[in-house]
Amino acid sequence: MIVAIDGPAGVGKSTIAKKIAKKCNFFYINSGNFYRAVAFKHLAYNGDPKSEAEIVETARSCNFLIIEGKLFLDGKMVEHLLRNKEIDMASSKFSSIVEVRNIVNEALRSSAKSLDIIMEGRDITTVVFPQADLKFYFDASVDIRAARRFQQNESDLSLQDLKEEIIKRDYNDRNKKFGALKRANDAVYIDTSYLTIDEVCDKVVQNILGLKQSKVSGES
Ligand code: C5P
Repeated sequence: MIVAIDGPAGVGKSTIAKKIAKKCNFFYINSGNFYRAVAFKHLAYNGDPKSEAEIVETARSCNFLIIEGKLFLDGKMVEHLLRNKEIDMASSKFSSIVEVRNIVNEALRSSAKSLDIIMEGRDITTVVFPQADLKFYFDASVDIRAARRFQQNESDLSLQDLKEEIIKRDYNDRNKKFGALKRANDAVYIDTSYLTIDEVCDKVVQNILGLKQSKVSGES
């Protein structure tokens, strides 16, 4: 079974997808980390952040592997290096390049060979796995997303700076030529603004169990 979740930055996709993977024994894939890894490698090798050709070259040279839900880049676990302001903004920009998206999408699809997977990102329900068994679109207001990021304490930005960063990333995500963030018609819409993590998890798990049940009883 493929479960796909999309939504804007800071809406809780990774926290919730990770929990569900654990609970339901699914293979978890965070697609944003693939774009972050491309940005990390490009910046680490002093690549020109303005040269699309160089960025595509970097993306092509990346070897992605997921082990126990963690992304390995060229054989090294890199997840702890992927969360800072520079990479937030570079991954948001680099992921607008269509060829980079094609490279990442191919890597995502070939990472998803396992039986039951849960993948989250921006275009998983629309481009990467439009045939997913279950699709979700998570949403929350900008203020709430910025406050959550602030509380996570992962960045040294002020609440106001975090809010501005989210607004810029939302704009980039919604205006991509290819793979723009949008709500698929058949995605279950969940506004997480006033729900706890466990409440959102319960809603997703109920849908998964319902589908599994209907498959067992031959209804679909
Ligand atoms: O999800 P996360 O914020 O870690 O993703 C990093 C960046 O990668 C985002 O700003 C987004 O623009 C981009 N992204 C994307 N498509 C995806 C996942 C992430 O364009 N499927």
